[in-house]
Amino acid sequence: MKITSVRTRHANRSIWGHLAEREKTLPLVTPLDIYPQFEETRGSWFWDSGMAVVEIETEDGLVGAGWCEDGCSAIPLIIETHMSRLLIGQDAGEIEGLWDRLFRATLPYGRKGVALQALSAIDLALWDLAGKAANKPVYQLLGGPVQPDIPVYASALHPVGADKVTAEAKAYVAEGYKAMKMRFPYGPGHGIDGMRANEEHIANVRDAVGDDIEIMADAYMGWDFLYAKKMVKRLEPYRLAWIEEAFLPDDLNSYAKLRQETDIPVSGGEHEYTRFGFEQIIEKEAMDIIQPDLRRCGGLSEGRRICSLALAAGITVIPHAYGPTHIHFALAETVIPMIEYFPLPCWDALPDAEVEPIFHDELQPKNGRVGAPDKPGLGVTVNEKIFND
Ligand SMILES: [Mg+2]
Repeated sequence: MKITSVRTRHANRSIWGHLAEREKTLPLVTPLDIYPQFEETRGSWFWDSGMAVVEIETEDGLVGAGWCEDGCSAIPLIIETHMSRLLIGQDAGEIEGLWDRLFRATLPYGRKGVALQALSAIDLALWDLAGKAANKPVYQLLGGPVQPDIPVYASALHPVGADKVTAEAKAYVAEGYKAMKMRFPYGPGHGIDGMRANEEHIANVRDAVGDDIEIMADAYMGWDFLYAKKMVKRLEPYRLAWIEEAFLPDDLNSYAKLRQETDIPVSGGEHEYTRFGFEQIIEKEAMDIIQPDLRRCGGLSEGRRICSLALAAGITVIPHAYGPTHIHFALAETVIPMIEYFPLPCWDALPDAEVEPIFHDELQPKNGRVGAPDKPGLGVTVNEKIFND
């Protein structure tokens, strides 16, 4: 399976779907909230939505596709000017060796960030190709499935007003979700009033869903340790399943200290990269749950290694964000109890103009679960129309 071409295209779409566009104006705490000029909306500082799609073709005409986020349009440049040189002419089936050579070759400018996102997309394309060559879904190549379908949790519940949030939470229960995640509105820039508003948001959702639904909340890197120490005391009565990304990704001391302060599980890792990054989280006992994203952390190959570390350390893995790759990942790993899904809140609607789906044949959850794909490879086709948006 000699690689004959590597094509990388940029689309002005978010890999996270429509949620990323909506979050530019929805209320939620962010790491820039401490700066008044950026506190109002995430859109005041966030990059333009973009994703890269990598297609790797072999001499026998098979094409594997992978993808990653590409906010600054850097991915095609990195792949075309450097990485493709280490791929063309090589055997596409040698995924481990190709991954390792690309990682080593990009070390001076890689290790984390956009180079790893590019490597992630390449790795996913190679797995898609391997599945197509074997005529099997990727999770079967990985030794799965470990369960017939995967629970998903509803991830939305922005603090848009108590009545809307109540209706939204109840709608998710009615749709069959057993777990849901909300966003904290405030961080250290908003004092006691903000703390009270954070607590009221959590209390409102707990009240709306009762005791038999898991609820959790995301601080999107917007807190500091002292703030979190006070906040968890307020939140303990509401039995949160986890508090997510309370701190900056590199501030592992604060994550580790927070675990000592509270019984609420501490999660993070959606902005972490490779086994080396996650090994540091585990070494510092900084998190109960890690949330790698295969479109960032190094693809399926590295995701499997991160799962092995987590298994040995007694840590749960719940991947960040939805997508075909995470369905295969969860079907193949025993350490992943559920995955994230971004539903459309009942009070919201998609834009008037028809929104083209990113993928054809992408599975959607029903009754809070998503089934196993049966098509070869990753099981989806990228919609050509997204490149013309
Ligand atoms: Mg998050």
